[in-house]
Amino acid sequence: MTRGAGLISIAVPCYNEQQSIQPFMDAITPVLESTGHDYEILFVDDGSADDTLPMLVALANASPHVRVLGLTRNFGKEAALTAALDFVSGAAVIPMDADLQDPVELIPQMVAKWEAGTDVVLARRQSRPDDSVTRRWAARFFYRFIARLSAFPIPENVGDFRLMDRAVVDCVRQLPEKTRYMKGILAWPGFQNEIIEFTRPLRRAGSSKWPLWKLFNHGLDGIFSFSTAPLRIWTYLGFILSLFSLTYLLWIVVKTLVFGVDVPGYASTLSIILFFNGIILIGLGILGEYLGRVFIEVKNRPVYLVGVKAGFGMGDENRG
Ligand code: UDP
Ligand code: MG
Repeated sequence: MTRGAGLISIAVPCYNEQQSIQPFMDAITPVLESTGHDYEILFVDDGSADDTLPMLVALANASPHVRVLGLTRNFGKEAALTAALDFVSGAAVIPMDADLQDPVELIPQMVAKWEAGTDVVLARRQSRPDDSVTRRWAARFFYRFIARLSAFPIPENVGDFRLMDRAVVDCVRQLPEKTRYMKGILAWPGFQNEIIEFTRPLRRAGSSKWPLWKLFNHGLDGIFSFSTAPLRIWTYLGFILSLFSLTYLLWIVVKTLVFGVDVPGYASTLSIILFFNGIILIGLGILGEYLGRVFIEVKNRPVYLVGVKAGFGMGDENRG
C-alpha cells in the first residue's frame, strides 16, 4: 500500500523552551516544506514559567501552520504529549522535542517510508554523547529489563521521536490510563514498523528537565504500568521460602529428638528476623506501587487541562 498527499503533524511539548522555539522553527520549516505535504506544527506549552507561551501564540497568529495549546500548569512531558496527540489532525504524526535533539533531517526519510506504506517509523538513537557512563548503562539495563517483563516489545533506545500513521494515533488515543508511560503507550498498538538509526545531538539551548532521580522514577512508572511481574515474584518467593522453612523445621525436630535441646542461636535468629522483615517491607512496597496506581486510575482525573488555544480554525474547536 502506498499513501498519497496527507497532512503531516508535528507534536511538540515545550516547557521553558523560549530559547529553543525560534531555532526549532527555523530548522524544521524548510524541511517540512521540502516534503511536499501540507503540515501543521502543534506546540503544547506545558505551563512554562518563561515567555514560551506568548512566543508560541505570536507564532500561531503569524503562521497558518502553527497551532498552540497552553496547559493550565506543568503537567509533565507525558501529559503534554498526550494533549498533542489528542489535538493533532494529521494523517501522519511525529512527536518531537523542542530542543532540536530529535534531528529534523530525519523527517523526509520518515515521511518517505510512511508514503511507501509503513505504519510506524521509529528513530533509534545510536549513541548518547551527552550522557555519562552510568546513565548509559542504566538506560541499557532498563531497556533489557523492561523488554523481558513487558508482554509486548517496547523498542530499545527509541524515544517519543517517531512517525505514526493516523490509524496508530487513533489506537493510542483509546488508552485511557492516567499513568502515562509514553514509550510503552506508543508501542502498545503494534503495527508494522521500520527503524531509522541516528546519533542524538547535544541540546542546543536551555537545559534538560530530567535529573537522574526523575529518570529513575520514570523507569519505575514504566515497569509498574506495563507489567505485573513484580507482583508475581512474591508468589514464587513465598513458595520457595515456605519450602525452605519446612525443611528446616523437619531438620530441627529430628535434631532435637536425636541430640536433645541446645539453646544458642540468638544472633542467627535476629538476623533472620531482620532479613525477612526487610523482604516483607519490599513486598508491601510493591503492593503499594500497584495500589497507588489503582488509586490514581480510579480517581479518573483528566491527564491535562487546556487553558489557551491558538491557531485552530473555527471547525477544529471541538476536537480532542
Ligand atoms: N518537557 C515538557 N514538560 C516537562 C518537561 C519537559 O513538555 O515537564 C518537554 C521539553 O520542553 C522538551 C521535551 O519535553 O521539548 C524533552 O525534554 P528534555 O529536553 O528536558 O528531555 P531530554 O532531552 O533531556 O530527555
Ligand atoms: Mg532534550
